[in-house]
Amino acid sequence: MKRIAILATGGTIAGVGNPGENLGYVSGQLAGSDLVAAVPEIADYADVYVEQFCNVNSDDMTGELWLKLAKRIDEIAGAAGNVGEDTVPPVDAFVITHGTDTMDETAYFLSLTLRTDKPVILTGSMRPATAKDPDGPANLLGAVRAAAGFAVDDEAPAGSNVWVYFGGELFDARRVQKCSASKLQPMDVDDESLPKEMPFFDVSDLEELPRVNVVYFGVDSDPRILEYASSVSDGLVIAGAGAGEFSLRWAEALSRVDIPVVMSTRINHGVVTLNQNLAKAPEGIARVASGTLPPQKAAILLRLALTQTKNPTKLRKLFEKA
Ligand code: ASP
Repeated sequence: MKRIAILATGGTIAGVGNPGENLGYVSGQLAGSDLVAAVPEIADYADVYVEQFCNVNSDDMTGELWLKLAKRIDEIAGAAGNVGEDTVPPVDAFVITHGTDTMDETAYFLSLTLRTDKPVILTGSMRPATAKDPDGPANLLGAVRAAAGFAVDDEAPAGSNVWVYFGGELFDARRVQKCSASKLQPMDVDDESLPKEMPFFDVSDLEELPRVNVVYFGVDSDPRILEYASSVSDGLVIAGAGAGEFSLRWAEALSRVDIPVVMSTRINHGVVTLNQNLAKAPEGIARVASGTLPPQKAAILLRLALTQTKNPTKLRKLFEKA
């Protein structure tokens, strides 16, 4: 029997509300051990070790928590015996329970930073545990089965060793996105191909990540937002319109922004290339196209990249391959 570590982080899967209702609940209330106790069939597929990593609505995830989570997974993955104060059995794979709102971001972060190549599967739910027909138990069971190597409807997608399991499907960490705010299957991938090789960032010595903010463009958006955003950031991502475009007033304001900026698109699908007419910059400051990365994932890659370089050519190369 495979051994699986389940690290619980909160989300709707651990949400509690009025009994029988799907909405109006609070995320991140139940413990991971409660979620596992509610699905006795798990024991038919794996021996599980459950750890409460945190218990938050995933909108309250932070770079610090990501760094701790990556380190904890790697610590347990290499463990055979005591890890810190706990006795953890050697494990074959991981399941992370997580809110759906930022599940795609955490999955992508882990795929770029984990040393272990053991399978890591994130799952969650759209309905709270107290709903009449909650989707969390089936998702948790499916994630455990997938982590233990049992077949899922689709074949395991390529990419890294990090996936999202949701509603009977596995999605790769690089392309998965939450694409619906309300459907029971909110996860999807676009039809772009996966990069041949995912970059790896060693975060073992990091306690915090560079600050990167995403700035959203719409008709008449005030360009002074760029000035403010750059004053509180080490790098910016623009969620532009169409193929990463924005107004001439924004382009003019951007020409004074003296930190690296990645152009992405609010459409969340398709390819963004660098538009030289818009991507103006002070001498030596990077302007980079996000390629097929949506803004929230471009921000993660930029945060990790900025731990190594601000060099425009190097940043561009990294995003071209991502
Ligand atoms: N707000 C919730 C969260 O991300 C949504 C969910 O889990 O479905 O924690």
